[in-house]
Amino acid sequence: MTLQAPKGTRDLSGAEVASFWALEKAARSVFELYQFEELRTPIFESAELFSRSLGETSDVVEKEMFTFTDRGERTFSLRPEGTAGVVRHFIENNLASKGGVQRFFYIGPMFRAERPQAGRYRQFYQIGSEYFGAADAAADAETVIMIAQILRAFGISDFTVQVNSIGDSECRPRYRDALLMYLEKRADSLSEESRRRMKTNPMRVLDSKVDGPKLSDAPIILDYLNDDCRRHHELFLQLLRDAGIPLHENPRLVRGLDYYTRSVFEFVSPHLGAQSALAAGGRYDDLVALLGGPKTPAVGFALGMDRLVSARPTGTPHNSMPTKAVVIPFMAEAVPTALRIARSLRAEGVAVAPVSVGKKLKNQLAHAVDSGANWAILIGEDELKTNSASVKNLSNREQSAVAFDDVPAHIKASGGR
Ligand code: AMP
Repeated sequence: MTLQAPKGTRDLSGAEVASFWALEKAARSVFELYQFEELRTPIFESAELFSRSLGETSDVVEKEMFTFTDRGERTFSLRPEGTAGVVRHFIENNLASKGGVQRFFYIGPMFRAERPQAGRYRQFYQIGSEYFGAADAAADAETVIMIAQILRAFGISDFTVQVNSIGDSECRPRYRDALLMYLEKRADSLSEESRRRMKTNPMRVLDSKVDGPKLSDAPIILDYLNDDCRRHHELFLQLLRDAGIPLHENPRLVRGLDYYTRSVFEFVSPHLGAQSALAAGGRYDDLVALLGGPKTPAVGFALGMDRLVSARPTGTPHNSMPTKAVVIPFMAEAVPTALRIARSLRAEGVAVAPVSVGKKLKNQLAHAVDSGANWAILIGEDELKTNSASVKNLSNREQSAVAFDDVPAHIKASGGR
């Protein structure tokens, strides 16, 4: 048996974990400013929840779900995205009956059986939000503005936001008919995949990498919007411009999932090659009702943490790291004192790795320097006799004797470094 992480997955370690953590922290603080509350839903849900919400013909449901049957013959899928679970929670707990608006965010792993490639994983991580109960364009705009703030708080300011409206259940069918007529005339020159999509979801043909570029004169949805959808879209654009969001109107942006209505958007990075989408989302006014709840307007997004972590310029400083120290007892008798000093340092916010005795001092010091420690506190026979530790500053190698009880104050007094 070879021991290997499953294809398309990887272990996150070292600096990458630190970046994930920094992103999570940035997002949490922005969500707090916008008053979104965290929701943690299960990592698996009934397979039907996803096929009903994402649509049977979406790529995700057609070919990317990890689905399994449990011993009671129930069929579950590992969640491929976060919205379905949040909407399920909203309906199951009858949250619509509270009235008003409800705002949630989530952070966690998602699973899609995609062909692995750079920036595309089978287990990847998303941060997203869902905002229920607000039908107006301000909610769409504030969602986009909030995402921009998360990106900037994390150190990414180089992005553009593609936007479009895909209408609603009144105007989209008219567009769909017009598009279908246009596509039918060209069906012979289209790929088999596109001809199949024409039957199930013609708007997705525009998404096709092979055929999309050939269809540059296809009708665009903006010409088919009804008055309400048009007004909604215009206000959405104006609010984003007012906020200085770098917009790119893309009338062909349709998004892969069936549940969107009106505003759709995608954040794109110029630095990520083929997998350039950092975040995406839109309005989905029909989804709650589609899943059996009362009709509730909603807007949401998800960002790809893996992508943001790779798009962040290298050298972006990490959130200030705590001061680090290592406490080294030279022999067993010094361990109780070493633990006491370690506890007093941690109580003051200094990071101290668990104390151990027995290894060579030189090795322990070398290891401490490697791990980024700023201080070493040494306790041997002489130190026990004088009740004072040898405190070594690992940056400038200066060493001084400091009374055991004064060690935390000594480190603080020198600015921690
Ligand atoms: P989606 O749910 O497909 O709209 O995806 C939202 C965001 O999640 C995308 O813009 C990507 O940043 C990220 N994402 C989606 N699929 C993957 C994947 N397989 N691997 C890594 N990131 C992904």
